[in-house]
Amino acid sequence: MTDVKGFSTRAIHYAYEPMDNEGALTPPLHLTSTFSFETAEAGSEIFAGDRKGHFYSRISNPTLDLLEKRIASLEGAEAGLALASGMSAITSVLWTLLAPNDEIIVDKTLYGCTFSFLQHGLAKFGVKVTYLDLTNPSNLEESIGPQTRVVYFETPANPNMRIVDIEKCAKLAKKYGAKVVVDNTYSTPYLTRPIELGADIVVHSATKYLGGHGDVVAGLAVGEAETMQQIRLYGMKDMTGGVMSPFNAMLVLRGLKTLTLRMDRHCLNAASIARKLEACGGVSKVWYPGLESFEQRPLAEKQMSGFGGMIAFELEGGLESGRRIMNKLKMIRRAVSLGDTETLIQHPASMTHCTYSPEERLSHGISDGLIRISVGLEDQDDIWSDLNQAIND
Ligand SMILES: *Cc1c(COP(=O)(O)O)cnc(C)c1O
Repeated sequence: MTDVKGFSTRAIHYAYEPMDNEGALTPPLHLTSTFSFETAEAGSEIFAGDRKGHFYSRISNPTLDLLEKRIASLEGAEAGLALASGMSAITSVLWTLLAPNDEIIVDKTLYGCTFSFLQHGLAKFGVKVTYLDLTNPSNLEESIGPQTRVVYFETPANPNMRIVDIEKCAKLAKKYGAKVVVDNTYSTPYLTRPIELGADIVVHSATKYLGGHGDVVAGLAVGEAETMQQIRLYGMKDMTGGVMSPFNAMLVLRGLKTLTLRMDRHCLNAASIARKLEACGGVSKVWYPGLESFEQRPLAEKQMSGFGGMIAFELEGGLESGRRIMNKLKMIRRAVSLGDTETLIQHPASMTHCTYSPEERLSHGISDGLIRISVGLEDQDDIWSDLNQAIND
């Protein structure tokens, strides 16, 4: 399906026609587990894939179908898939692409549960998991080979904001026929479109910016139509069973409508907070791709059209100071997750990334003193005054 309309317009209108739905402005919510067949023959034809139609909502559903088309359009991909959670998207994709004795090369910094799935899940079934520092693509060049089926990374990475050059990694992977899978949760397709830079598959925790309101757990994947169909019929239908509920699809569709507005404000607020944190006594280091001091800023500028709403920082007193400051906050919420309207603060080593052992965290670049903020949509001055009183009190 080709569409020349702009990003915000597609986030609101793409693939939906009210006049096909009794004029309803908002797409109907198809709360149904199963679909009836006109005849027995029609049912078997739909099952065999010889006739178009839905038959059971673990495989497809019209509300999910709309969301799948919309996210595919926004990411510039052929097809999409809606899943129960970000983890369900990641695991359904990887169960489909990998078999025993295959190798997956991953960046050394990964979301905690993704790391756990690789380290304690896939590795148990004979998949070789290789952790590399992919911020330096020559590490990939040295290590990749014909046994490598998948190259997987996040950019910016959760929680330490490392940026991986999508274009360079995709070029190298292509030479060996390995698929590049990018977790685009932090950037969203508004700020980075990995498919346009050569990646094969993009996965999302739609729980975060795409849903955007902290009221849904959901996941999405996009890529070539044929591969997405394989993931639908194998990874999702049989391996994980992790399909999105139609109700959650409706919430993500609603979130997408304001994605560009929200991201613009997340970016503005985060840039201002990052600069203030950097200038603030007691803070030893701030990681935000928009800062002059951010080492990988040129790469961030190359592949992101904005620097996002996530900040990592470290305090002079390490973890103990971090805990003290988190406990003094009055408006900012102490909570995991990210991309919500509320500003959220958390401590990766003891929360989202506690799936790593202390030694693993050390070698994977997640320091114990690191604090992560998801800058929300409140007034900048209120976010800063809460942080400032907590740090300087
Ligand atoms: C939250 C998150 C996930 C997991 O998503 P869920 O929706 O919680 O399953 C995966 N990757 C990243 C980068 C995340 O932040």
